[in-house]
Amino acid sequence: MDNKKYKLGTKLIHAGVEPDPTTGAIMTPIYQTSTYVQAAPGDHKGYEYARTQNPTRTVLQNALAAIENGKYGLCFGSGMAATDAVAKLLMPGDEVIVANDLYGGTYRIFTKVFACYGIKFHFIDMSNAENIRQHVNDKTKMIWAETPTNPLLNIIDIEACAKIAKEKNLLLVVDNTFASPYLQNPLDWGADIVLHSATKYLGGHSDVVHGALIMNDQSLEERLRFIQNSCGAVPGPHDCWLVLRGIKTLHVRMDRHCQNGEAIANYLRSHEKVGKVYWCGFEDHPNHAIAKKQMRGFGGMISFVLKDDNIEAANAVLKKTKLFSLAESLGGVESLIGHPATMTHGSIPREQRIANGLADSLIRLSVGIEDIDDLIEDLKQAIG
Ligand SMILES: *Cc1c(COP(=O)(O)O)cnc(C)c1O
Repeated sequence: MDNKKYKLGTKLIHAGVEPDPTTGAIMTPIYQTSTYVQAAPGDHKGYEYARTQNPTRTVLQNALAAIENGKYGLCFGSGMAATDAVAKLLMPGDEVIVANDLYGGTYRIFTKVFACYGIKFHFIDMSNAENIRQHVNDKTKMIWAETPTNPLLNIIDIEACAKIAKEKNLLLVVDNTFASPYLQNPLDWGADIVLHSATKYLGGHSDVVHGALIMNDQSLEERLRFIQNSCGAVPGPHDCWLVLRGIKTLHVRMDRHCQNGEAIANYLRSHEKVGKVYWCGFEDHPNHAIAKKQMRGFGGMISFVLKDDNIEAANAVLKKTKLFSLAESLGGVESLIGHPATMTHGSIPREQRIANGLADSLIRLSVGIEDIDDLIEDLKQAIG
């Protein structure tokens, strides 16, 4: 299909998907095979070995490229496998400027794995993109940003980062997991590589672990495809199929995530026992204007602190919710609740955690698409 012609809601359902050539099946089959028969050596239909290519994966890669307004998509066994592939573009001695408010697993792979190979990472506050400039030197190769961030929902100006990246000849990588392609398309603002943990909103049903990269530049795609095949962190065809099915309803799910998110953010803000509420849709959010510029909606990720700011008070709330399940991860149809201080960010020493703005009572919500009245009722009885 002509990807330029159609709007996102249509592309999510049709992009990359053709009726199966052998049967006409409307849904892409799960090509559960490891190899492909050749008529003579080299005489094949474009598929030789399933680490290198798989038809189910090809369809998903094309669909992902289309919905991120990119030319190329590459799929991986997890979001971290996608991150790993991007980091392998770097050489010993190279330096990377990374947003300091980022997914814990990304921080871990940079500091505990790639730092051992002689790559240097500078973790900085990117809420003002101009801060990046003072950390660029002749060894800098990449800028790595995540927006909105986890769990404080800070916003980074992708266009401003891209301007600096172009000027200094650096690659700009944006982890777009929290926004999903429905709310934000970083390539349109000048990013070079978009990364997704498709485990989250793209899959959308908490039933698959998957990662993806999307880009426009052909030589970058060739290098990353080489790494994908050489290192082999590829997803199986069934997982590709689950993500392909998930993205067909992304727009419908995201609209409800956004509606429910807004209602809950406002409810929490009016609650007498709740302190600060973090949600990028509030007009007084420090980077709300940038969120409005680069996003089409504000999503269903919300964090808040209790006025009674201690771990016990937070635990009391976590124990009482019935619809919000206590779990890591996000982006599924069901609502989740989490406690960064003891869960995702538990390995950070308390002083540093507090200095980064992660209070003891900070609670993170991944607001699902259940009935909003039931969700608010659940929070009401849990917070008391
Ligand atoms: C979950 C997540 C990842 C890692 O993805 P996995 O699929 O769990 O490997 C990376 N970035 C963000 C923002 C995430 O939320």
